[in-house]
Amino acid sequence: MTTGVKVRQAGRRFGSRTVLRDVDLDIAPGEFVALIGQSGSGKSTLLRAIAGLDPDATGAYEVPDRHAVVFQEHRLLPWSRVWRNVTLGLNETNLRERARRALDEVGLAARANAYPGTLSGGESQRVALARALVRTPGLLLLDEPFGALDALTRLKAQALVARLWTEHRPAVLLVTHDVEEALLLADRVLLLDGGRIAETFDVDLPRPRSIGHPRFVALRRQL
Ligand code: ADP
Ligand code: MG
Repeated sequence: MTTGVKVRQAGRRFGSRTVLRDVDLDIAPGEFVALIGQSGSGKSTLLRAIAGLDPDATGAYEVPDRHAVVFQEHRLLPWSRVWRNVTLGLNETNLRERARRALDEVGLAARANAYPGTLSGGESQRVALARALVRTPGLLLLDEPFGALDALTRLKAQALVARLWTEHRPAVLLVTHDVEEALLLADRVLLLDGGRIAETFDVDLPRPRSIGHPRFVALRRQL
């Protein structure tokens, strides 16, 4: 699991509209990168291209074999129990035990037999994270994963992602329009604008991070 992400000349047009123009992007193994930009700037389009979900995207994409995506909507199947949702599509033995371990990591082992409809929004997103973790991904692609959560639940979910990243060290690409979230979590923040990576910021902040740190406040002003 030593490869990172290498994207060259990523491009995407919808009709006459060019959304991505020759985007180059590298993520080292274990690096946490955030992609920010205005709504409609093409963040999700780029993430989907990297995830291999967009057959019409152009460019060259080198991505670790095992990658997992978490979207803003958790996309859990309502008629399958939580543990089955976590291991869906896996073709291995001991699925129940593997699901239990992944759910334990997000603090939800007790809900393994529940149906998704009985979970809160924050719990559903934690199940989506467990579903990603159980695949031991070399790359985690997160598209506004906490965008639909209330402020307090979002803070807890951010802290959870920070802990999981520290423990498992996948490469991460986090798409967010929340600048503070980007600074709380990422090593590097990329600004997507005009179909290009318009700016790159290195985040030289100690972990664990707090929004009250003076350096955090200074970086926040720059962005
Ligand atoms: P972001 O995630 O940064 O908010 P998106 O990547 O979702 O932006 O979208 C970028 C632009 O591409 C938007 O203008 C959007 O309307 C357009 N777009 C995205 N998907 C499609 C599609 N399937 N068909 C047409 N236009 C699309
Ligand atoms: Mg988006």
